[in-house]
Amino acid sequence: MIIIMLGAPGTGKGTVAGLLSEGLGIPTVSSGDIFRKAIQDRTELGIQVEGYLSRGELVPDDLTIKVIEDRLNKPDLANGVILDGYPRTTMQAEKLDKFLEGQGKKIEIAINLETPREELIERVVNRRICSNSECKTIYNLKLNPPKQAGLCDKCGSELTQRKDDNEEVMNNRLDTYFKQTQPIIEFYEKKGILHTEKVSLSINRMGTDVAKELIERLKK
Ligand code: AMP
Repeated sequence: MIIIMLGAPGTGKGTVAGLLSEGLGIPTVSSGDIFRKAIQDRTELGIQVEGYLSRGELVPDDLTIKVIEDRLNKPDLANGVILDGYPRTTMQAEKLDKFLEGQGKKIEIAINLETPREELIERVVNRRICSNSECKTIYNLKLNPPKQAGLCDKCGSELTQRKDDNEEVMNNRLDTYFKQTQPIIEFYEKKGILHTEKVSLSINRMGTDVAKELIERLKK
């Protein structure tokens, strides 16, 4: 089963993807995680993409598409994948369809999370992530704090903050999202596979609620 996660940064795509992955037994691939790991490991890819991430801009399509197609060809994804953060442009969405078509596969559902802009900034500046690459559990210092400050509840590793999770870069990331990524929502709506969910404190609905319902629906 192929699931894609859509939505602005901070809507909780990573959290929902992680819960769906556990509930459905399908691996998650996050384009942002691939780029951050490459930057951390000082690989050629990391050096090429670092500036884009630090400014909150999208990595160019040709490079991103190649990185994701290489990853999608790996045998661990033969039975499905949850794509978190990909596609983000119309070009990426079209190329993904073609790539999957070539493998006789198609996207089951495109989950689109919507949250008011002011809430997104607040969420992102309070986001902390487990530094253990096998765990990567996501916390929020206000909404979902760890039991022990600075440490992951699940594995005890230190929590870290992403460099681009600050207000200035986040504003750029949001502008980029509304300009370059939002148009692909219509692309999936036209295909009849779009599932939009509002996630907001103001309606007391969080990513965990959405994930629970979707697991039940997709298991059937
Ligand atoms: P994320 O972890 O999904 O918030 O992504 C972090 C950063 O990685 C983004 O701000 C972009 O610079 C880059 N990135 C992630 N996914 C993509 C993509 N599909 N296309 C282009 N750039 C991306």
